[in-house]
Amino acid sequence: MKKLGLLKEGIVDKIVALSPSGVEKLSADFQVFVEDGAGQLAGFTNEMYKDSGAIICKDSKEVIVNSDILLSFSSRIGEYKLNCKKVFIGFFNVLNDKTVVLPYTNIEADVYSLDLIPRSTIAQAMDIISSVASISGYQAVLTAAEMSPMVVPMVTSAGGTLKPAKFLILGAGVAGLQAIATAKRLGASVKAFDVRKNTKNEVESLGAQFIEIKGAVENQNAGGYAVQQSAEYLDLVNKRIAEECINADVVITTAKIPGKQAPTLVLKSTVDKMKPGSVIIDLAAENGGNCELTRRNEIIDHNGVHIVGLASMLNRCAHSVSTLASNNFTSFIKYYLNHIDQEESNEILSSTKVVSNGKIINQQLINEVNAL
Ligand code: NAD
Repeated sequence: MKKLGLLKEGIVDKIVALSPSGVEKLSADFQVFVEDGAGQLAGFTNEMYKDSGAIICKDSKEVIVNSDILLSFSSRIGEYKLNCKKVFIGFFNVLNDKTVVLPYTNIEADVYSLDLIPRSTIAQAMDIISSVASISGYQAVLTAAEMSPMVVPMVTSAGGTLKPAKFLILGAGVAGLQAIATAKRLGASVKAFDVRKNTKNEVESLGAQFIEIKGAVENQNAGGYAVQQSAEYLDLVNKRIAEECINADVVITTAKIPGKQAPTLVLKSTVDKMKPGSVIIDLAAENGGNCELTRRNEIIDHNGVHIVGLASMLNRCAHSVSTLASNNFTSFIKYYLNHIDQEESNEILSSTKVVSNGKIINQQLINEVNAL
């Protein structure tokens, strides 16, 4: 029987890569070793893991020594001497932070990073990016509603009638559509924009108004993703989006282009004109941000407009994110076991493998790490 280790995340991360039900799903092939307290902050106790058949280890060192495959959501390993070759699987966001892979180089380690999973039908059950994006879209709306000095729905009371808060969602992919649906459920008046024309129907089917700005470039070979737009088009977008932002109470930005810096959609000059009390939640903060003023992992107060670039917002939904991520990781691990023999010709395994026996093998990472 193979041995799988579940590592505890850093002190700021509450999400855990495997839930007790994930342990059960893998129990036919694996004895699972769980680091003491690994799931505590996501609502999964040591007892729950034990009941699912896991063995609790006192620290990460003990987990690593006992396991062939190590699983973590996003945390990197410390300075360990490995007793033999290990496989590390996680959601390391390697293209956003190249330094993540460095501790795994020059040691007997293979690393698979699930942020590089292809967005194909066959990989759908392993698509952790979608799981995280969906919860991020939901949480962005709740965070904005909490930070805004306004209530979201229309309220009629003895003091008169309050109009619904105006939400603007930029980018209508997985996160954006979930944000639209959540804002609509709270009673907001919602507008949305995306460069991909076919998002119009999806936006409208959720009851939001689609902002049309003609002239976007689309590429049928981009796998359903957006591609980089011309400077002229982005200029046009900036002007139109500026008008919409000034009118909005909450702006949630989710626009990304795979492997590239996120497009700037909200300029500082636009934020200058927004109403005090407005909130911008920038879900592209990890990729450089959609708002010119966004700072990764910070909340900026710009003349009363708050710009939120916090990845840690996801911690508020640690149980739900962990539950979805655990399903994605268990699907990947089962797939890995069944296909490892044909790894080189397998798209899912070869796309996600970034380090092989201590050497970086992902070409984009090699270039970027060399440039560090
Ligand atoms: P993403 O996170 O890369 O981008 C988010 C959104 O930003 C996208 O909708 C994109 O069009 C938009 N965007 C990019 N540049 C923009 C700009 N300048 N202005 C406005 N919007 C801009 O994308 P995503 O949310 O992961 O998904 C994108 C597509 O991929 C969707 O159609 C989704 O259904 C599809 N998808 C397919 C699979 C699968 O087949 N397994 C899985 C997940 C997503």
